[in-house]
Amino acid sequence: MLRIVVLGAAAGGGVPQWNCGCPVCRAARDGHPELRSTQASIAISADDSHWFLINASPDLRQQLIAAKQLHPKPGSLRHSPITGVILTNGEIDAVTGLLSMREGSPFTIYAHAKVLAILKSNSIFNVLNEKLVRREPIEVDRPFEPRFPDGAPSGIEILPFAVSGKGAWYLEGRQHPGGSDGTGDTLGLRIRDKATGRHFYFLAACADVSDELKSRLAGSPLVFFDGTVWRDDELITAGLGSKTGKAMGHIAMSGDDGAIASLAGIDIDRKIFLHINNSNPALLHASAERQIAESAGWQIPADGTEIVL
Ligand SMILES: [Zn+2]
Repeated sequence: MLRIVVLGAAAGGGVPQWNCGCPVCRAARDGHPELRSTQASIAISADDSHWFLINASPDLRQQLIAAKQLHPKPGSLRHSPITGVILTNGEIDAVTGLLSMREGSPFTIYAHAKVLAILKSNSIFNVLNEKLVRREPIEVDRPFEPRFPDGAPSGIEILPFAVSGKGAWYLEGRQHPGGSDGTGDTLGLRIRDKATGRHFYFLAACADVSDELKSRLAGSPLVFFDGTVWRDDELITAGLGSKTGKAMGHIAMSGDDGAIASLAGIDIDRKIFLHINNSNPALLHASAERQIAESAGWQIPADGTEIVL
């Protein structure tokens, strides 16, 4: 049995974002605390006592306080149920939380060589002593089973696969420390409980739904999918930025080639948007956009949502 906890559902900046006065951020600050959301990350466990994080957001400390499942074992002076972190990209909202795990507990970072190269080239990550915090390269299309610090298998099989996306924005126009090959910048994950065979997909970033991706996701009990923006030009028309969703490596929820339309005919039991930007009107419970998303079978989760698969 796989347990999944949505630690955070928001895109970079969270909801509300510190410097943002958009309608969603204003409502989240004043009168609608239920709209507040931390930056996207989930935790998974097959045994309810060892947990793996999928991405480590800048809000990790707050998320770990909120999630009882991830508290130290009662009676232990130093302990964490977190035994590993799987990174799907090198963006700030996916890796910065690692710096909040620097107090000497062992765990393993699983990431593509491109993302490991980013960590290695930034000396601040040396605060994670490699003797305690091992780094394991993962490869596209090669399933792996993360392990506990004592080497025992987790019972979880993870298949990383390439999805259409972008490299980390802070590396745009610069030499990537992991090389110029685009492979490995953005990964999707299929996560499977080896005991039950049940699986789900995690795609916090995806610029385009290809036919290959549609057939991959067909028949899945659960998919977490990129819900960054409602409209591709949302940040531009709201006066919040100069980039389209696509230019940032994120498909829109709406539109003929958006996520809702692209996955409409695909047999997926439960569809959950994740990595939702504070500019996205579907975050507002009473919005027309929210109603469209929900009537198309999509959920927008609150932080702390727990799912048993
Ligand atoms: Zn905002």
